[in-house]
Order: sequence, then C-alpha cells, then structure tokens
Amino acid sequence: MSDELVDKTEAHPNGDPEVVDEWVLRYSKIDPASEGLRESLCTLGNGYFATRGAAPETVADGIHYPGTYVGGLYNRLSTLVAGREVENESNVNLPNWLVTGFKIDDGPWFDLAEVDVLDFRQELDLRRSVLSRWIRVRDADGHVTQVEQRRFVSMSDPHVAGLETVITPENWSGRLTVRSGIDGRVVNGGVPRYHNLDAVHLADTTTQAVDAQTMTLVTRTNQSNIRVAEAARTRVTRGGVPVEPSRAVIEEPGFIAFDLGTDIEAAGPVTIEKVVTLFTSSDRSISEPLLEARARVVRATDFGKLLHEHVEAWDDLWRRFSLRLEGDGDLTQLTLHLHIFHLLQTTSRNTIDLDAGVPARGLHGEAYRGHVFWDELFIFPYLTMHLPELVRSLLLYRFRRLPEARWAAAQAGASGAMYPWQSGSNGREETQTLHLNPLSGRWLPDASHLQRHINSAIAYNIWHYFQATADFEFMISYGAEMIFEISRFWASVARYDPSLDRYEIKGVMGPDEYHDGYAGAPEPGLDNNAYTNVMAVWVLCRALELIELLPEPRRSELREELALDDAELALWEDVSHKMRVVRHEDGVISQFEGYEALAELDWDLYRRRYGDISRLDRILEEEHLSPNSYKASKQADVLMLFYLLSADELQAIFDRLGYDFDEASIPTTIDYYLQRTSHGSTLSRVVHAWVVARSDRERSWEFFEDALRSDLDDTQGGTTAEGVHLGAMAGSVDLLGRCYLGIEMRDGVIWFDPLLPVEVRSLSLGIRYQRQWLTVSAEQGRFTVELGDWGAGTVLVGLDGDVAELGPGERRQMDL
Ligand code: BGC
Repeated sequence: MSDELVDKTEAHPNGDPEVVDEWVLRYSKIDPASEGLRESLCTLGNGYFATRGAAPETVADGIHYPGTYVGGLYNRLSTLVAGREVENESNVNLPNWLVTGFKIDDGPWFDLAEVDVLDFRQELDLRRSVLSRWIRVRDADGHVTQVEQRRFVSMSDPHVAGLETVITPENWSGRLTVRSGIDGRVVNGGVPRYHNLDAVHLADTTTQAVDAQTMTLVTRTNQSNIRVAEAARTRVTRGGVPVEPSRAVIEEPGFIAFDLGTDIEAAGPVTIEKVVTLFTSSDRSISEPLLEARARVVRATDFGKLLHEHVEAWDDLWRRFSLRLEGDGDLTQLTLHLHIFHLLQTTSRNTIDLDAGVPARGLHGEAYRGHVFWDELFIFPYLTMHLPELVRSLLLYRFRRLPEARWAAAQAGASGAMYPWQSGSNGREETQTLHLNPLSGRWLPDASHLQRHINSAIAYNIWHYFQATADFEFMISYGAEMIFEISRFWASVARYDPSLDRYEIKGVMGPDEYHDGYAGAPEPGLDNNAYTNVMAVWVLCRALELIELLPEPRRSELREELALDDAELALWEDVSHKMRVVRHEDGVISQFEGYEALAELDWDLYRRRYGDISRLDRILEEEHLSPNSYKASKQADVLMLFYLLSADELQAIFDRLGYDFDEASIPTTIDYYLQRTSHGSTLSRVVHAWVVARSDRERSWEFFEDALRSDLDDTQGGTTAEGVHLGAMAGSVDLLGRCYLGIEMRDGVIWFDPLLPVEVRSLSLGIRYQRQWLTVSAEQGRFTVELGDWGAGTVLVGLDGDVAELGPGERRQMDL
C-alpha cells in the first residue's frame, strides 16, 4: 500500500468511495448501511463466473451477502404465494469459496464489527481487476493485527480465482488459527422482495479433504440438475517459506474448512494463499466437474503467477476497449472504466462457449434473477464495436432458443417466433406472474411479459451486428432465420381493420412499464403502442431487404425451410405500408391509443410529497391508484424511436406508411414526454441523453452524467446492491461513440457526425469495424479517423456527406 496514492485522491460527491485516479476506487470507511452496494460494485468476474465483493470472513447476515454466480446457470423453484403456485427460475447463488477467517489463541473469530478498527482501506483496481483490503485492528485483548487481502477472478483462466491474505501481528505472539473453507449452505436470499419465495437451490452437497492443502465441495441444483464442483488449495508461508501448519478438518453438512494453526511471532507476517477452481456439468471439454476442479487446483501455479496472467488478459481487453475522455475530471473517466469493467466481468471471451445471454443486472446480485431482457439493445451495439465475436455468440443464445420462441408464438395464436420478455435457461417466458409492491406489501399480477417489443430488439441487434461486421456467414446461417421468424410474428399479430385500411397491434405493453393496460379493463394490454408498431415496420423492412440480399441458393433454401411463400411476403409488404401509428391532435406521436385522454399527474405534488418518485407505480398503487390512469411514464417509450432510428430512417418509415412526418416535430415530441417521465429505469436517462444530444447539448450532458451515476451513487434508491444495471452501464459508454461522435454503420460505410458536449475537451476511442481497427478522436476542433496499418483491406468512411476509401495506415480529418 503506497502512501503517494493518498495525495491524488479526489473526493467523490458522497465522500465514499474516493476516486484515487481514473482506475482506482477507494473505500476508507466501514459503512454497514451501504455494504450491499459496495459488494456489488466490488464484484469480480470473468464472463464465466463472478463473486460479489463480500468480506471473506462474513456470511449472509442482512449486511453482507457473499454471492457467486456462473453465467447461464439457472434453477427453477415453485412457491405458493397469495394463494397461487408461482414458479421462478433463478441464476443460482453457488457455494461461497471466499470463506477465510482467523483467530488468535482461543479468542473469537475475527469479526470487524467486534474489534477496534484502527485503519481501513478497500480498493478496487479496475485496470488489473483486483480487489484489495488493508485493515489494522485491535481486539478486546489488546492484540493489534494488520490484515492485507487481494483477490482476483481470473480473466485468463475462467475457472480459477485467488485470494491472498497476509496477517501481521504488531504487538503479539501466539497461536494463529486460519480457517479456509467453502460454504455450500448458501441460498438465493439477496433480494428482500423475494424473501417469501423458496430460495434453496442446492442439494446433495458433499465435501472432501483431498490432501493437506486441498478440499473439494460438490453439489447439484435441485431442479435443473447441474453439478457444480469447487476445489480450494490453501498454502501457508512465512517470508516466502512454506509453513507446515497443524490442520483440523471441519466438516458440517454443506460446509468444509481447514483450521490451520501455526505459532506466530510479533512482526512476522504470515501469508495464506487460497487458489480456487470452479466447474459445472454444463462446461465444455471436461470429463466431470469434480474431477476437473480437483485436478486443476492441484495443477495450478501460485497466486502470483496466476495473478500476473490475469492482469495480462485484462491488459489485452483494455486495449480493445480503449476510451479516453478529457475535460471532465477523473471521476467521469473512472466511471466510464467502471462501466466497461462490469460489462466485461459479466460477458467476455469466456462467455463465448457458455450459451449464456447477458443478464440485465450482471452476475453481481439476484435482482431479476439473472434474466436476460431487451437490455441487450443497449449492450450489443457497444460490444460489437470492440469484441464482435462475443456478440456473435450472444446472438446464438437467441438462435438456439428459436424453437421455444416458435412454440410460444403458436401458443399465443401467432406465427413465427415470439421471444420471451425475460429469458433464462431454455428460452421459455420467465417473467414473474406476480410481483410484490414493497410499499403496500401487496402481491400484484405482472403483465410485463406483454412487452413483445423484445422481438424487435433482437432483430435490431442482429442487423447492427451485420452492418458492423459484414459477417455474411452468420446472417445466412442464423441471423436471417431469426429476422424472418420475428417478421412473421409481427405480420401475424398485426390485424387489419378495413374501416381504417390499417393494421393494428393490440394487447401489448411498450417499454414504459407503468402502463400495462386500460384502467378498469378486464385484461391487461394496450393497443397500438407507437414504439412497438414502428419497430415492427422497421423489422419487416429489414426482412424484405434481406430476402433480396441473400445469395442463391440460400434464399430459396431458407424460403423453402420456412415455407415463406410469395403471399406471405406480400403480406409483409402490406403491413409495412399500412401499420397504424396513433397521433395526438397536435401531431405528437401517441405512446399508445388512448394515451391522450389520460389524466395529467400532479408531478409537483408527488415530488413534494415523496421526494424520489422514480417508482411512481409503487407509490400510486399504495394509494390505491393506478399509473394506467395517468400520463406518466417510467421510462422512454415513444422516444426510443429517436434513440434507435435516425431522423432520416424515421422519415422513410413515416413516408412508407403515408403519414406526414415533420422533423421539426421531434423536439416537441421529446419535450412532451420528457415532462411526463419519472426515469424509474436507469435505461431512461441514456435514451434521453441521446435524443436531446443535438438540440440541447447541456441537457444531454446532464442526462449522461445522471446515467453515469446510476450505479456508483445507487441513484435508483438501493437497487445496485441487488446487481448493477448493465444496460445503463454499456449504454452510457456507447453514447460517446454512437451519439456524440455520431458513428453510424450502414450499407458498407461507417459514418461519423461528431457533436461533442462542451464539457468534453477531447474524446478518442478504438473501434472494430468489418475486421479492421479504426482509431477515432475528436480534439482541438478536429476530428480524425485512422485505419490501423496491420489490416489488409480498406474501409469506406463517411464524413461530411462524402464517402472516402481509407487504406491501411491512412487517416481522414475534418474540422469540427
Ligand atoms: C425496465 C426494463 C428493463 C428491466 C431490466 C426494468 O425496470 O423497465 O426496461 O428491461 O428493468 O433492466
């Protein structure tokens, strides 16, 4: 621990954590009230598994919550709630490998809450992905002890993690007993709202002391029957020399530990090095999880070497995801690093063979049970520009679940594929059917599965991936089939009304989750949600374009396989020309049919009464009112159109539909909904920062800064402790490139149209585009794009309306 770091420390608005520099977050206080938040933000992961930043000596006790999650590892449990049997699928909390404690002589086990804390510092190093802790304590018997800990979850070997503990007695000598273990008695208890639900996912846990240093624990999930094995090797050294401690094996049902005893002298540090391996029966290229975990932990090199390889893997990643923003201080740059960091801890190269999607709340906590939502829409475009091979595999997660989506469409009386709003193991709809309003204590029906717009998000991501990579093989083999099946779904649920000569989509929900139906109506669902209808048209247009683009014989093959005849294509044409979009009297696009007639909410009154009204839905329900009655949105809904589609694209869609569309109406529409949105989802601020970026740069920057604070400052009132908000994390970083630098990839050209917020002095980033590397930067009134000189081909770059061909090592510039 070097003291020079202290001088550079910049105070964070909340005081804790402090920003040491653009890579390091420091906590200098112990604060039980915000421990859950800290654990989430200090989670370490590698895209295969992640472990919350819980202190190794703690258990789940209301303050601490150790949690370890493997991507895509789910289990289902049923519980009787409010007289109804509900089944929920959760990303399972796996045995806690951190377990490390110590005691002096016959004293109590070390517990921070029971000693005088003389010094405390915890640091998260984002560049190296290492979590460290320095503590100096005095216990009731006057022993002063220093404890230093470092841990990592290896980015280079996804099955390995390490925890090193150095214990230094300052004023005592005596018997030191270190407990190193694995705790399989964990449950999914991380979200208070779910406490009435069954939470025990693990069964048949067995443990074994393999040799003097090694222990194993194996368990299985009690419904999905996935076997999980963890092995831990604990070595004790003093001054670099191995110590042969005494050992007592502690085995209790679901728990194993070694109590390692050694005599220790004042000022002589003892190092305890714990290396852990984790395997599951879903892993590729293994024989069996327990055999693998045991063999690999025995084979593992020491903590130092493993750490070194891990840091090198992160160095590579940071080169790929390089981003520099100057002008707004270390806090902004640090937060951008933090967002990229948590994204890559959840999904990285190690996810590629995992058949996992990207859980909305990361592998950081249990909110939304590790489910996969439309949040991918905010995540994939950014990932595609840096690690396209990862996005390809994440899109395959959807492709493998196409049969389930086809089945769901058929059950709903539709054709094609209907992807679930919340997806987990096999692509079945995992949205809960009841949810608890913690304010009123009431269980309420949950209709959010009606957000069929998830389907357009999937199609959008496929299309964007294709534009950015020109990966024709992917499109031909997988992408086109998904886009066609989604188009087919949209065309089948769009009903023709001859009196209007328009198609309508009824009984759905838009992104705004405050509105799930018409007040007093017997069934949930809204009609003609503008976002849903316009995006359905967008998908149909892409599908029609794709039919032309596909080379023969693949086009005919696919048409035959999917029984896609001319009549159906004619229907797609027709729907894409005649979809209904409802507008208010003054021309503002209506969020859904009937929105204009809803009551205005007295926003000032509610703000005065409740302060934070981001969860207005819960507040209103507690008052026995329904948000369905009001013009009040949780998040961007209509405005999502301006987020995803350029003004030109929107114009083209409205022209195709035969509706007037005046670009000048965009700011009016934005203003209209802005006044009626509570930003109850962290995604909302990302969208708003984007949509006002050109018209109101100041406001855009405010939204952007708010989006950056979402998790660091836990602005959604305590939700980050249950997992980070990955959509907002990725979306905010993505905004810098695709919005402020105006990056757009279409028809084989990468366009740039930069307009930087005044707060930004310079911005530069690297982009992967069509198998090439581009470096783009905007500084001192000049925009530069340069093609890496190691690539072979050229790239078509669009600047200021002109397209130029850029060869390896060449650059183009323009004045800003
Ligand atoms: C938002 C959704 C989002 C989900 C998961 C909800 O609060 O309303 O749009 O997909 O969280 O992040």
